[in-house]
Amino acid sequence: MIRLGDGNSAVLNEVLSGEMILHPVEEIEMFRKGQEVSCEIDVLRRNSHSMMHTAQHIFSALAEDLWGCETVGNQIGAEQSRVDLLFDDKEVFNPEDLIETVNSVLSSNIPVNVHEWEREKILMHDQMRHTKFMHRIPTSITHLRVVEVEGVDLCPCAGTHVSNTSQIPRVRFLGKKNKGKGRLRVSYDFE
Ligand SMILES: [Zn+2]
Repeated sequence: MIRLGDGNSAVLNEVLSGEMILHPVEEIEMFRKGQEVSCEIDVLRRNSHSMMHTAQHIFSALAEDLWGCETVGNQIGAEQSRVDLLFDDKEVFNPEDLIETVNSVLSSNIPVNVHEWEREKILMHDQMRHTKFMHRIPTSITHLRVVEVEGVDLCPCAGTHVSNTSQIPRVRFLGKKNKGKGRLRVSYDFE
């Protein structure tokens, strides 16, 4: 939410990244150049995204541990989320096994730690996941944020996370869709 001094306000749902960060608004006439505004974060929506996204770390890590499949895309929502998994053979996928394993991690009070590590340390770490994108980050950035779900997942990530898995409700399998050879789109929400 963005508030203008004249009592008007606008909702910012979308962020477009690039050289500059852009927040599209519906009525640009409300704004004048140079105007001072104040922004507010929707705490409930933000917290929901933090829970969904942290659950996705666990979901993707355990899918990889169970079947060696790679997460090749995801979309996090406040109500439900989906993860695209790439399998050698997607017949091995079993939603009950995955959801049960995810829920057992969630109910185990596992700390979620945030580190700032040098690139080298990240690339050399033998437990590190998802480093393929790192070459796209300018070399002037020497340290990256690494998120660790203790004993479950470790990867560079700039998203929002909870600090302990106990803050996340149990997840529920919503469905799967075939998305081409070896690829499944799996959706979940919270019970
Ligand atoms: Zn993350």
